Amino acid sequence: MKHTKIQQLALERIYRLFELAEKEFQKHPKRSKRYISLAREIGKKATARFPFELKKKYCKKCNSVFTQTNSETKKTGDLTAIKCLECGAQRKFGTKPGPKRKEAF
Ligand SMILES: [Zn+2]
Repeated sequence: MKHTKIQQLALERIYRLFELAEKEFQKHPKRSKRYISLAREIGKKATARFPFELKKKYCKKCNSVFTQTNSETKKTGDLTAIKCLECGAQRKFGTKPGPKRKEAF
């Protein structure tokens, strides 16, 4: 599916905000979380879906961007579980047999 111009622009801004969030996380965790929530708002307004690579980069519960120190990734077969060490929330990503990729939460 092709993105509309608005969605394309939204995605560019979202990527930028993720970059900033990663950069600021150590020194300004609050600001960093704000960037992530902004990115999510932009995505919602433009109805742009987050690319998979971004979806697994932040905590849906507390908006922390995942770094090597604040997340734990466990792989079991095709399933990847990411645990947020900031708030304890866990997210699971995986490929299930069948035509559609299933995302379990
Ligand atoms: Zn969290």
